[in-house]
Amino acid sequence: VMGQMMSQPLLVSSIIEFAARHYGHVEIVSRRIEGDLHRYTYRDCHQRARRMAHALKGLGVQMGDRVATLAWNGYRHMEVYYAVSGSGAVLHTVNPRLHPEQIAYIANHAEDQYLFFDLTFLPLIEAVAAHCKTVKAFVLMADRDRMPQETGIANLLCYEDLIASNSDDYEWPVFDENSAASLCYTSGTTGNPKGALYSHRSTVLHSYGSAMPNALNVSAADTVLPVVPMFHVNAWGLPYSVLLSGAKMVFPGAALDGKSLYELFETEGVTFSAGVPTVWLGLINHVLQNNLAFSTFKRTVIGGSACPPAMMDTLIDKLGVQVIHAWGMTEMSPLGTAGGLQAKHLALPKDEQRKILQKQGHAIYGVDMKIVNDDGVELPWDGSTYGHLLVKGPWIISSYFKNEGGDVLQDGWFPTGDVATIDADGYMQITDRSKDVIKSGGEWIGTIDLENIAMAHPAVLQAACIGIAHPKWDERPLLLVIKRPGMDVTREELLAFFEGKIAKFWMPDDVAFIEALPMGATGKIQKNKLREQFKEHKLP
Ligand code: ADP
Repeated sequence: VMGQMMSQPLLVSSIIEFAARHYGHVEIVSRRIEGDLHRYTYRDCHQRARRMAHALKGLGVQMGDRVATLAWNGYRHMEVYYAVSGSGAVLHTVNPRLHPEQIAYIANHAEDQYLFFDLTFLPLIEAVAAHCKTVKAFVLMADRDRMPQETGIANLLCYEDLIASNSDDYEWPVFDENSAASLCYTSGTTGNPKGALYSHRSTVLHSYGSAMPNALNVSAADTVLPVVPMFHVNAWGLPYSVLLSGAKMVFPGAALDGKSLYELFETEGVTFSAGVPTVWLGLINHVLQNNLAFSTFKRTVIGGSACPPAMMDTLIDKLGVQVIHAWGMTEMSPLGTAGGLQAKHLALPKDEQRKILQKQGHAIYGVDMKIVNDDGVELPWDGSTYGHLLVKGPWIISSYFKNEGGDVLQDGWFPTGDVATIDADGYMQITDRSKDVIKSGGEWIGTIDLENIAMAHPAVLQAACIGIAHPKWDERPLLLVIKRPGMDVTREELLAFFEGKIAKFWMPDDVAFIEALPMGATGKIQKNKLREQFKEHKLP
């Protein structure tokens, strides 16, 4: 017997339609590249997205065609999100922090038909335009008076001209919910980047799942500022989950320094935010150094790389901001787990609660996970046995775009490349990425733990730990440290700081003080570069 409920495809366009109809007055505030603040409502956004969808049709964009963006978080970028996916084309968000050659590679690989970009990236587009073979025209997301007088770009269109010359008399088409909606390339630390091709169905389900109280807990009472860029796994789905929740949206544009962010948090009454640990470093330093406080900011999601416990303590204890530690990856749309306490934890002492919150969190409904050994045998959920982390669910990749890399699943599960423990309550903790874990005398040393301890030292701003080849032990840990400005610490003092906190054989063999860490396009430390840089380092 079949159920007798409506069968309605889950389409991305339904999200903006819902937001405009049921939360039409709610604001989207954007700090523009032009410097000013722009404000309008979901109703306005929907209207302009439909005009842009009309424009795309006029430009000959067909169902399934890829349309790229190179843009900051802002209202025009959001219009393009919905105009492209809503009309049946595929939104391809490109990370502008990639090397120009990589950008051209990705644009060609995706066979992008049009490329929308912010004014900031005009020089970048001028450099790569000739190499983007499939792009018919580049659209500058600005007013006519910002269009360059002279440019080497052969086919340049003005965004606001397209909006002005098209009507909003546009009905979102209805099609198969399994059609592609958007495309994101993985960072590609080894080899060329590969594409994760999200469907309408996976996007809508991820939006539901990630908005839930045990996950990001977004509601119509919130004002949300996504610091995580819309070119980084669709800003972790916030351009969808915030709209279906009816929350106010605040976009920071290109101004991601501590001062600019703090001002925007305060003037717009931001309650909830999301970003990688490195952006919080800047914001926290600004707030503490200037003796400031947050008046409305209550919760933030931190993920993309491990949130150092010292950062979590500062946010919670000094600034009154609850931290939701989350884990995911491009191949997972991206959310897999989110931190938080259960009823039975509420009576625990603060320290024990904090240990739970420091883990990467509990699976969100829609994501199943398990840990296995090298032979694929499932390992126990005891909080100490670690193994390869595998996941499955309706918003997890089944194969890469154009089937690159062939069949990537193991018995229907996606291998994340992370090593983790899962405890009896289902909380997952990342030990390390399998390619970063240090193999010493047949045992594994997790670098995240070592970095977390180092970063709890008051004189340490940032730390990274890598394995250095060792004649006897295969690899031994080397700790790289950036000191806090104006503070000092010696190698011996730092090593003494680890005493009693870890097993003896985990103790770093050496410490090197450095000025900067190589950061990748999504705000992660590039350990492959560090390993290369320090490969001749002589351990004592
Ligand atoms: P993204 O594009 O979101 O940065 P990637 O796919 O490049 O995603 O990287 C995903 C990887 O980042 C994960 O497999 C994991 O190694 C790491 N990661 C993400 N979140 C966390 C976290 N909270 N703690 C530790 N590592 C994390």
